[in-house]
Amino acid sequence: MPNIHSKPLAILGGTFDPVHIGHLNAAWEAAELLDADVRLMPANVPPHRPPPVASAQQRVAMLRAALHGQSRLTLDTRELEREGPSYTVDTLAELRAEQGDRPLVLLLGEDAFAGLPTWHRWRELFDLAHVGVLTRPGAESAWLPVSGGQDGICKVAAPTALREAPAGLIAALPITPLDISATRVRELLASGLTPHYLLPSGLLGNPALLAPYAGG
Ligand code: ATP
Repeated sequence: MPNIHSKPLAILGGTFDPVHIGHLNAAWEAAELLDADVRLMPANVPPHRPPPVASAQQRVAMLRAALHGQSRLTLDTRELEREGPSYTVDTLAELRAEQGDRPLVLLLGEDAFAGLPTWHRWRELFDLAHVGVLTRPGAESAWLPVSGGQDGICKVAAPTALREAPAGLIAALPITPLDISATRVRELLASGLTPHYLLPSGLLGNPALLAPYAGG
């Protein structure tokens, strides 16, 4: 029987190269929709993509600056402390061991969700956590073969149902669509522009944090 009295713990993993308003708003609105604690979890060696521009240390410094002054969203650097690639399935197994039967929710933007079947031991993710799919403009929605039908490996549920079981459900989390990406932010910074309203103020207050992206 899950501990339905404990708030779900939701995880937003990513490269955060750099963290931007799209990430923060997604994490914040997910926290509200699920009444969950949310941790931002920077990845060390992302298995699916080219290495980040900023170092792990620089990305953590940017996340700390971005999260400063609020307590609802927190930072979890465990993947940076592990050797080798950051496999989400290993991270969730670790969290499950720590959190007992507390509901765990892996948050994924629609773009990340579409790539889920390419992830290491991806089916096992649903034994360990729920998945919350965040609205992301420009991403193709691809719900099969993950959910529903004969091949479905998990049940589609409303966000509130995620509080009532520790793992195994999938819910669409309808958040305010913000077409912001770290790629776009890096492009703007590399051309000498300052994407003032795409970045958290804590980051803008310290230009040295954005130095890794300067063009030239
Ligand atoms: P890049 O442009 O370098 O690929 P990104 O902006 O997609 O980066 P990531 O750090 O790769 O950022 O994203 C981490 C997670 O946050 C992913 O699940 C991604 O889908 C989600 N995410 C990022 N930006 C948004 C956004 N604007 N709206 C909703 N989800 C987002």
